[in-house]
Amino acid sequence: TTFIGASFGGIAEMYAQIQKAVGATERVFELLDEVPEAIATNSGSKNIEKLNGTVRFEHVAFNYPTRKEIAVLKDVNFDVAFGQKIAIVGPSGAGKSTIASLLLRFYDIEKGAITIDGKNIYDYDLETLRGNMSIVPQDVILFGGTIKENIAYGKPLATDDEIFAAAKQANALDFIQGFPEAFETIVGERGIKLSGGQRQRIAIARALLKNPSILILDEATSSLDSESEKLVQEALEILMKGRTSIIIAHRLSTIRSADQILVLDNGIVSEKGTHQELIALENGKYKNLSNLQFTEY
Ligand code: ADP
Ligand code: MG
Repeated sequence: TTFIGASFGGIAEMYAQIQKAVGATERVFELLDEVPEAIATNSGSKNIEKLNGTVRFEHVAFNYPTRKEIAVLKDVNFDVAFGQKIAIVGPSGAGKSTIASLLLRFYDIEKGAITIDGKNIYDYDLETLRGNMSIVPQDVILFGGTIKENIAYGKPLATDDEIFAAAKQANALDFIQGFPEAFETIVGERGIKLSGGQRQRIAIARALLKNPSILILDEATSSLDSESEKLVQEALEILMKGRTSIIIAHRLSTIRSADQILVLDNGIVSEKGTHQELIALENGKYKNLSNLQFTEY
């Protein structure tokens, strides 16, 4: 277990360095082949505490250590109740993905506090914190191994039946069974190349199996063709049920039904409310964004 502990810390550090394209948690596995093994060995070695998933950002300020001169988050405040869906919108570079990274504790904040279930995230051990969260990024990168291993990564002791059920719920079963080796198909650099939407459905199956209290979707559907998007969106709806979801999104269809929408701009939450409330603001940023970007509206 010492080995696991050491590599876990190392991964976080390494992740911080290579995470320029924020949100792609899976990306790290491309660089660290030993990771899945280390985590598989970890199965059952520790009982992680199950959290409810109430999230609070309180006067959070943050700059990246390598770019101190740029204030990314200046004073960010919001609350997400257990089981709520919150959407974060705002211009590119506003710090939306940064919020996800801070929640996962890839960086330490400078001011303020981030709490989960009323307790500061720095007072949880990392296994508990990350064990209660799943992230589905825009660009999912799988590690070299079988589809089955990639899905079970969220729960190393999962049974074949559980893996099958998760793949089914994630709308991934059809394409998996279309391969001659099905769940044993090798993916990644030395295996079959999956499409973006297929990789996302693998990530969704993984998250379903992991059953996290907090789910983060970082532009999860923004680079998919419309057919793939529909399948992914359906799977995401299933995944979001019964858990706290933080949705970073471009698309109005995803945002409209959120319990709360935050507009992040200039380092602060400049508008907060439901779709109906924000659309009613004269000269509101959300309203302008919706008119410009959210063409479905
Ligand atoms: P968004 O997701 O809203 O597009 P990000 O959270 O990715 O924005 O980025 C916010 C700001 O922080 C941007 O100016 C971006 O260039 C910068 N940034 C993001 N990741 C890093 C990093 N790892 N190191 C230094 N600066 C970063
Ligand atoms: Mg981003």
